[in-house]
Formats: sequence, C-alpha cells, structure tokens
Amino acid sequence: MTHCVLCPRECGADRLHKEAGACGTDAKIHAALAYLHRWEEPCLTGKNGSGTVFFTGCSLGCIFCQNHEIAHRQGQTLSGAARDVALSPQALSDAFLSLQEKGAANINLVTAAHQLPAVLPALTLARKKGLTIPYVYNSSGYEKAPALRALEKIVDIYLPDMKFFSPELSRKYANAPDYFSVASAAIDEMVRQQPKTVFAEDEANAEGTAPAMLRGVIVRLLVLPGFADDAKRILSYLYSRYGNDICYSILNQYTPMPATASDPFLSRALTETEYDEVTDYAISLGIENGFVQEGETVSESFIPAFDGEGLTSPSAPCTPDI
Ligand code: SF4
Repeated sequence: MTHCVLCPRECGADRLHKEAGACGTDAKIHAALAYLHRWEEPCLTGKNGSGTVFFTGCSLGCIFCQNHEIAHRQGQTLSGAARDVALSPQALSDAFLSLQEKGAANINLVTAAHQLPAVLPALTLARKKGLTIPYVYNSSGYEKAPALRALEKIVDIYLPDMKFFSPELSRKYANAPDYFSVASAAIDEMVRQQPKTVFAEDEANAEGTAPAMLRGVIVRLLVLPGFADDAKRILSYLYSRYGNDICYSILNQYTPMPATASDPFLSRALTETEYDEVTDYAISLGIENGFVQEGETVSESFIPAFDGEGLTSPSAPCTPDI
C-alpha cells in the first residue's frame, strides 16, 4: 500500500498515508451503499434482490460510467449527494450479514478490485459469522489475474464486464489501451476458478422467479452507441474461447452522462437496430446462456441513491493489517 501496483495501472502510489493513485482511494474500505438491488440479471436478483455493496473509487474510470458519482473519486469528496463511508472489515462483514437477514440472494461486490487487501478479510470474516449466500464479484474486467487468485475458493460468481475490443476505443474512453488484453486474461482466471455455471434446482416456481445462480461466470457487455461492431468482436472472441460454459449478458441500457455530452457517439442512447444487430449476432454464434434486455431501459432510475444506506462507520480503526 506504500507503493501500490495492485491493478494494471501500477501507479506506485502511497495509499497507506493518503488517498492517491488513479483509483483515488487510500488503504481503507470505502463504500457508498449496501442494499437489495433489484436490477441485476434474474438469476442474481432472486425474489428479494441482490445484496449489493457499491465501493467508491475505480481504477478504470470510463467517461460514460453510470456510477460516476462514486467511481470518479479523486480527493476526499464524492460528487453530488453521494456519501462515502469508511469501514473496517468487521463493519463490512456486518453489512453482509444484515443483507442476508433481509433476504438477499447473494452478496454482490461492485468494483472492489482496488480495495481488495482490505475487503478480503471481511469476506472470510462474514463466512465465519454465518454468511451462507454466494459472493458475486462484480468487476470492470480491468484487473490483474494474480490479484484475482487471492479470491479463489472465496468468490462463487464472477460478473465481469468486457467493455472494449478495440484499443483505440479503450484509450479514448477509459485511458486504457491495454483493456482488452488485461480483461481477457482476467476472465481467463475467473473461468479457471469457476469453469461451469451452476444453478439451484429447486428455485424456479410459479411466481416466475428465475433459478438462483450458485457458481459460474457471467460476462456483461454494455453495447455502446455507434460501436455494435466492437461488441460483436467481443462476443466472437468470448464464444470461441468459452462457448456456453459461461453466461453472456448483453445490455442495452447505456445512458448518456454529463461527461459524454459532446462525444459524437456516446451523447446518445443505443438504437433498437444496433441492439438487435448484436443480439442477433450472439444467437447466430450459438450462444444459448444469454440474457438480453427488453423494452426501454435507458434511464438514470437504474442508478441508486448513493446515500450510505446499509453502512455504518465503525468506532474501531478502519485500516486492516496489510
Ligand atoms: S489500485 Fe489504485 S493506486 Fe493501486 S495501481 Fe491501481 S489505480 Fe493505482
């Protein structure tokens, strides 16, 4: 933490003494919300919602980030009304247990990569305290495979994005020309740890609840307006490598953000034609384990209020032994 090379940015920042580096965080756990999120894939949402913890800061920093209020964290404060809560591993494990008590289908860790050394003890501590539901590791895909190895036998479901195929696009929109090579190596590691998708057998019922996912990998692909071809290249790559051993979630919910207002492509929503082109292509490849979105999903209503719900600052020191 005094010379951080945790993620592919390898900033070498001193995070033990201050908030620093491209992720903008120090060595503590920082989060903005822990609640039952009802807008994940049906196999993750279940009857009551996915027990989702949104961590603040991000080492990727896409300009179109839907969670930009908490992701672009340079300095002490978040933008808008978002609230940052510093947590000890003990307090975070308590938040997980509270979500389980509320009926969460799983514990869904959103963008925890840059906080892994502090978050890991919370994951094992919660198991010791009685957490039984799966851990979902929800990731930008921009992760070092060696760091992911620390999650082996801990994380049950990996939920990475695959955002860009083209280095030009990832350079332009995330300042990460190496995104595809990094993310493809990360997904390889995730699939190595969870090579098959496993669903609960008794969950599908007359209410239409989807079977709960217990283990496996779901790769998310947010189709960007103007870049259907890039999305198709991603699908072609993933299917040629993993076939139907993984699940594919093809999203049409791209919502223009203030930072994309002047971009010739990203200042608008995706068209139905563009989305259909990508989903038709997925079907033509032979993808069967897929999720698609129907109807109008372009809305900031998918973005929750990051008001610190479900998180309590501890009286004990926040920084774990690292
Ligand atoms: S985790 Fe943060 S400080 Fe560490 S290398 Fe990545 S962006 Fe830099």
